Amino acid sequence: MISQEIKRASGHTSGEIPLQTLILSISSRCHYHCEHCYEGKNLKQWEALSIADLTKLLREAIKLGIPHIQIGGGEPMLRFDDMLRLIKLGRDHMEFWVSTSGYGLTRDKAWDLKVAGLTGANISLDHWDEEKHNRFRDHPEAYIRVMEAVENCKVVGIIPNLTLCITHEMASEEQLMNYMELARKLEIPFVRFLEARKAGNYAGKDVLLTGQEQ
Ligand code: SF4
Repeated sequence: MISQEIKRASGHTSGEIPLQTLILSISSRCHYHCEHCYEGKNLKQWEALSIADLTKLLREAIKLGIPHIQIGGGEPMLRFDDMLRLIKLGRDHMEFWVSTSGYGLTRDKAWDLKVAGLTGANISLDHWDEEKHNRFRDHPEAYIRVMEAVENCKVVGIIPNLTLCITHEMASEEQLMNYMELARKLEIPFVRFLEARKAGNYAGKDVLLTGQEQ
C-alpha cells in the first residue's frame, strides 16, 4: 500500500492504481455531539447496514484485494461484537484500523480487538486542552476517554494515532505545536490532520481553511 501511494503521489504510475482504503461506517450511534460531526442529523438513527450487508461488502473488498480497511461510525465501539466478526473475517487478507473517539475502548476491549486482528486505532482528539476538547465534543469525559484509549492500545500492542480536524482556531503554529508536544509525550507514532468540510453539522458554515491557514 505504501509503495502504491508513493507512486501515485509522485506521478510514477503505469496504469490504474487499485483502491487502497475502504472506510466502513458500521454505526450511526454515538454518545457525543461533536461540533464538526459529519453525520449531522443522521446521528443516532437506525443502523443502515445489517451484519449480513457488512459481511457481503467485506467479502467484495477481499475479492478486490483492498489492503486497508478503516472501521468507523458514528462510534464503532458501540457495535463491538459485529466489529470483531468483521475483523476476524478479513484479517488474513487486509489490515484493519478503527476510527474512534476513544469511547468504550477499555483495556479488555482493546485486548479483544488485538486478538481479533486489529492493527491500529485512529483516535480523535480535537484540542490539546482538556476543557476545549470536552466542549467541542459536548461531553465532560471525552478527553479522559482519549487518554485511556491511547494507553490501552499501547499496552495491548494496537498502534494508536491521534486524529485532529483542524478548525480556524487550531490552524496556527502555536496551537499545532502544543498539540504535537502532547502527542510526543503520549508517544504517539503519528498524527493525522484532517481539514474541516462543509458537511454534517458544518454544512453552510465558514469552516474551510484559508490558504494562509493551510
Ligand atoms: S464522536 Fe464522531 S460520530 Fe460521534 S458525534 Fe463526534 S464526530 Fe459524530
